[in-house]
Amino acid sequence: MDADEFRRAGREMIDYVADYLENIRDRQVTPSVQQGYLRKLVPEKAPQTGEAWEDVFADVERVIMPGVTHWHSPRFHSYFPSATSYPAILGDILSDAISGLGFSWTSNPASTELETVVMDWLAHMLGLPEHFLFSFKGPGGGVIEGSASEASLMTILGAKAKAIRETKAKHPDWTDGQITDKLIAYYSEQAHSSAQRATTLAHVTGRGLPTDEEQSLRGSSLAQAIEEDRAAGLIPFYVLATSGTTPHCAFDNLTELGAICQAEELWLHVDAAYAGSAFICPEFRHWMAGVECVDSFNFNPHKWLLVNFDCSALWLKDMSLISQALDYNCPIIRPNPDSGEAMPDFRHYQVALGRRCRSMKVWFVLRMYGVEGLQKYIRTQVGLAKEFEKLVQLDDRFEMMVPVRLGLACFRLKASGEANMRLMKRINDSKRLFLTHAMLNGQAIFRFTAGASRTNSADIHHSWKIIQEEATDFLKGESD
Ligand code: PLP
Repeated sequence: MDADEFRRAGREMIDYVADYLENIRDRQVTPSVQQGYLRKLVPEKAPQTGEAWEDVFADVERVIMPGVTHWHSPRFHSYFPSATSYPAILGDILSDAISGLGFSWTSNPASTELETVVMDWLAHMLGLPEHFLFSFKGPGGGVIEGSASEASLMTILGAKAKAIRETKAKHPDWTDGQITDKLIAYYSEQAHSSAQRATTLAHVTGRGLPTDEEQSLRGSSLAQAIEEDRAAGLIPFYVLATSGTTPHCAFDNLTELGAICQAEELWLHVDAAYAGSAFICPEFRHWMAGVECVDSFNFNPHKWLLVNFDCSALWLKDMSLISQALDYNCPIIRPNPDSGEAMPDFRHYQVALGRRCRSMKVWFVLRMYGVEGLQKYIRTQVGLAKEFEKLVQLDDRFEMMVPVRLGLACFRLKASGEANMRLMKRINDSKRLFLTHAMLNGQAIFRFTAGASRTNSADIHHSWKIIQEEATDFLKGESD
């Protein structure tokens, strides 16, 4: 493909993308294909000689689209949302064209410096403590990871190295392996599976702790676990608190957990993968009270801040704790805006060496929506979830199980968990909507996210009508 062909094909692709997103309501939200469908539509081996763009492009509708789950359909109410926006797509096009691997300042100065700038901008927008800012004279700063799972892994590795160092100072005869065997990390039983996975990858023990009646991890639960584990000879070293849990969008109590972690010298990390975006609106920040006590904080702009996957923002109170955990020779770096020297080498904060320029799309989004545009977007989505809650409350066959928190509604048919699962299967099998479930007190309930960026009030009413219709038929079938 030469430059002229690229220009022509590029225009065609941009038109296709805009048409796809603008008309996404007309597509069936989940595909009807069976496993293995795609292999049957393509040759067994890659073509020996290059094919024409027209032929490749035609196969998008023939081969790909039949198997796509349309995350940006207003009928998609599953999981947590995945963001997309035109400015972010444009940012990624440019980043893909530059395609430089910004693992150090030298390898891509613009990518590295832009990342420090957008991380500071985001920190300001969320109202995070200033010790997380590069512009603050201290060891803190931020880095863009690919996912919240990677952010948890990086922080647990930093905390583990610190705990080993500190324990060795007290017990010089203990080996790293002996200390590692004693290390124990905590998270709530409602935490995302990536918390447990991070402990597995870091080769340390993880312990899920019970939550209160609002699905929140409280200080008393943590304090009791620390006491028990210390008595058993273990070394508590890390707590992962969740702001906005996956099942119910619950918030762990950072004030209580922070006080304990400071007193007990434990690393406190906050996973705000979904809910973090909402903190750009001051009215939701009460849920992050206590954030001044945390050692690291992470959220995914790629979930709810109109930045396309992948983009997960991680801030550290002391950046050197991770860079030194992954590279003992790594100098303690501080970006120095005055001298232009000592920018971070972001390779020290991830598994891979190479890294794409994710800050480009963040920069485009922040500039083109502005803080107010993004706040309006979040508030609209929260409003849609509240609207859905009111609809549920008007139908006495259903009940809300948890008050709407941000964009998530947890509700159920007034029937057994098993009946709720069967109703959900029926709705999902209809392909008219896509929902997922959560467990609450041992019973399956529905999770409904307001979700996709184009969802409006009419869509919410439409989705609720589908749920009601399916429930009517389901209940009729049950009573026959
Ligand atoms: N943490 C929470 C609270 C989540 O809800 C999710 C995913 O939905 C994750 C972590 C995992 O996110 P990622 O795919 O960025 O690793």
